[in-house]
Order: sequence, then structure tokens, then C-alpha cells
Amino acid sequence: MLGSIPVTSAVAPVLDEANPWLNAQRQFDNAAEILKLTPGLRAVLRQVRRELVVRFPVKLDDGGLRMFEGYRVQHNLTRGPAKGGLRFHPETNIDEVKALAMWMTWKCALVNIPFGGAKGGVVVDPATLSHRELERLTRRFASEISVLVGPDSDIPAPDVNTSAEIMAWIMDTISMEHGYSIPAVVTGKPLEIGGSEGRPSATGRGVTIVALEACKRLHLDPAECTVAVQGFGNVGSVSAELMHDAGFRICAVSDVFGGIYSPVGLDMRALQDHRKATGSIKDFPGTHYVSNSELLQLPVDVLVPAALENQITVRNAGHIHAKLIIEGANGPTTPDADAILERRGITLVPDILANAGGVTVSYFEWVQDLQSFFWEEGEINRRLERILQRAFHQMCDEADLHGVSLRLGAYLVAVKRVADATAVRGIYP
Ligand code: NAD
Repeated sequence: MLGSIPVTSAVAPVLDEANPWLNAQRQFDNAAEILKLTPGLRAVLRQVRRELVVRFPVKLDDGGLRMFEGYRVQHNLTRGPAKGGLRFHPETNIDEVKALAMWMTWKCALVNIPFGGAKGGVVVDPATLSHRELERLTRRFASEISVLVGPDSDIPAPDVNTSAEIMAWIMDTISMEHGYSIPAVVTGKPLEIGGSEGRPSATGRGVTIVALEACKRLHLDPAECTVAVQGFGNVGSVSAELMHDAGFRICAVSDVFGGIYSPVGLDMRALQDHRKATGSIKDFPGTHYVSNSELLQLPVDVLVPAALENQITVRNAGHIHAKLIIEGANGPTTPDADAILERRGITLVPDILANAGGVTVSYFEWVQDLQSFFWEEGEINRRLERILQRAFHQMCDEADLHGVSLRLGAYLVAVKRVADATAVRGIYP
């Protein structure tokens, strides 16, 4: 039925390796080709369903006003409400948010939780705002996108430069507008207002779970593996800590200002203490400075890019030493770089699985909020492990069946689930 829709689904030429939206569409096209999706279904799935652009004023502490631009994009709602984080970053833009929304659809489908994909962002460097300005910006943005968000329609969560506190402000704003508390409107909240045990560490825990599964597949002993982690925020710092606890030797970590490296390994507890005391990872004793691009090319066994998109590109993919890459960040590897890594025999566990721990525990949080019945952390971590291990093996089975990369294997599982759901629902009216 869907094959008869008169649409054009020409594949856009890739003009810019760094455009995440073109990259996301290319990754989808590769899967659609193998799945032999009809032109109609391809056209439905390779576009976002809704994109909202908002421009709004915020009162500054000095009495002035400043205008901001923000976005909320829903890629697909076929399997359930839209789910995806909010990013506050000076370089975010509509194409980045569209890509992140599409990746969320595939991620939720791959781990088989009943959500579609969304993402949002505000063009802002939060470091330039006071705490009160940040709160006013967040509340006004929440109000602007409230036409889309809700526990049954679209549920935001934290992403780059957003936190549990920011989620609390969003929950409070939406609740005040309705006149009653709506905890399930957002996930990644503080425990006091319906947050979930295990949510702050869930993405890094997921990275660790899939890293251990990938080691089994490659017959690597984690205790023999050295690791470099790019990005030391929510995802990178927890990944480094939990991978360290699982036996890996963490040799390098970095943040936006650069990295630290020690071939003998970093004591992660001491590093956290150093960061608390000095406010930075810089000058940690026994290490030397590496730039973020040097970090990606260090002689380590496992690389965990956990910062932003487009870090592994045609320029550096030929110089990466790691045998295994676990994508903690969304979109850190471009499709052209993927092809180089594949030719070089480097195994890459794709973002839509590697960082899916966050949305999986966000799903648990939403379920707990809707039922007003809360689980213990042990149960949350056990359920998370089961879900990610199952998705890991489904991805590998599909990749092995078709003789393709793990990314394509993951896409085949995920895109098929969304395509099947779309076909079963049919096209309205
Ligand atoms: P965060 O804001 O907590 O941390 C980002 C880290 O990256 C910081 O240490 C920052 O200094 C560093 N960084 C920023 N720009 C950099 C650059 N150019 N080079 C190197 N480091 C840089 O953000 P986060 O929540 O940890 O998110 C990181 C990545 O993980 C993003 O791609 C995000 O979409 C993805 N992700 C996050 C979650 C989550 O639950 N927070 C879930 C899934 C995926």
C-alpha cells in the first residue's frame, strides 16, 4: 500500500561531511536499501514529522533583554510518544537537532522501548548566563515548546549542558501551566520529584555494558585493554569510572579544553577528587596534556568518543589505533569515516546502541512516574543490562547475517521495527 504513494525519495548528494542531518539520512538510506523499503515508506521515514522553531526573549539580571532561538523536533511517533534530550549549546542548529531526533527514533526501536524520536535545543552558551538567567531561559523555552511536550506526546530529558536541575525547572513550568504536578513530562529529574534511581549514571553504565559485550565478541580481555575517553561530562565521566571498575585501564580522558594521558592508567577516584578540588581535569599528577584530536589517535585498544558529533572523520579515521570504538556520543563518526574504519577492520559499536542506556532508564523513569510506584536501583540496573545485552546480540546477528558493519546491523533491526509499525498502522486517513 505504501509503495503506491507518489513521492520522490531521491537521495540527497552529500555536500558536507560535517552536516549531521545529511549523515543521519545517509545512514538511514543504507539500511533502507538492504531492507528494500518501498519508496513511499522511505520518504516517510527519512524526514522529520514536526519541527518547531521558537524565538523568545529572556530578562537579564542587568534589566536588559536578550533574544534566543530554540528548537523541538519530532522525527517519528509511530511506536509511541516522542522521546529525546534538550541541548544548550552555542553551535546547535536545526540540522543537528533533526539528526539527533532521527537517531532517537532508531535508538528507541533498537532497544525496543515504546517511544518515537525527538530532540531539542537552544542556541546558547550557558556559561555566559547567571544561574537565575539560566532558569528564566529554561522556563520560557519550556513554555514555548509546551505545545508539543507532554507525558503522552513528547518527553524531554538532559543532553549536552543540561542537568537534572534544568529538568526540574521544566517539570515545574509545565506543571504550573496545568495547575497540577506532571512528573512524567520529563525524565532525568531529581529523585525528590519523581526521578529514577540509576538515571544519572545510566548512559555510562550502558556504554560499559556494551563495551564488555563487544570485548566478548572480539575475544578481548578487558583487563588487558587500554581506553581513551573523549568528553568528561555526564556520559564520558561515568563511562570512564564504570569501565575502570569493570577492569579496563583508562589511560586518557578529555573535556572541551583538552585531555590528559598516562600510559600506565588513571586512578579514576583520585581524578574525580582532583576535578572537585580544582574544577578541572587539567594538571592531574602523573599525566601529560594531549589535545582532543591527539586523544583520538592514542595507542589504546578502546576509544570512547563521548563529546559531540563529527569527531572521527575522513581526516583522522586512517590514524586511529584502537581496535574497538564505543560511541558514547551521538554521531561522533561520519559515514565516510565509518567506511574507512570498516576497511581497516576496526569494530565500532554505534551510538544508537552504545548510548541507549540513558533513554532506557528514562523509559523506566516515565513508567515509574505514570504508576507512582518506584523501583530500587538494583532492579533498574539488572533490567537495563538485560535490554542492552539483548539488543547487542540482535544487532550482531543481523550484521553477521548480511555481512555488514555493526552500525548497519543495528539500523536493520531498528528501521525494520519502525517500518513494520508504520505499515501495520497504515497511512491516515
Ligand atoms: P555534557 O554536557 O555532560 O558533557 C559534554 C562533555 O564534552 C564535557 O566534558 C565537555 O567539556 C566535552 N566537550 C564539549 N565539546 C567538546 C569538544 N569539542 N571536544 C572534546 N570535548 C568536548 O554532555 P553529555 O550528556 O555527557 O553528552 C555527551 C554526548 O553524549 C552527546 O553527544 C550527547 O548527545 C550524548 N548522549 C547523552 C546522554 C545523556 O544521558 N546525557 C544520553 C545519550 C547520548
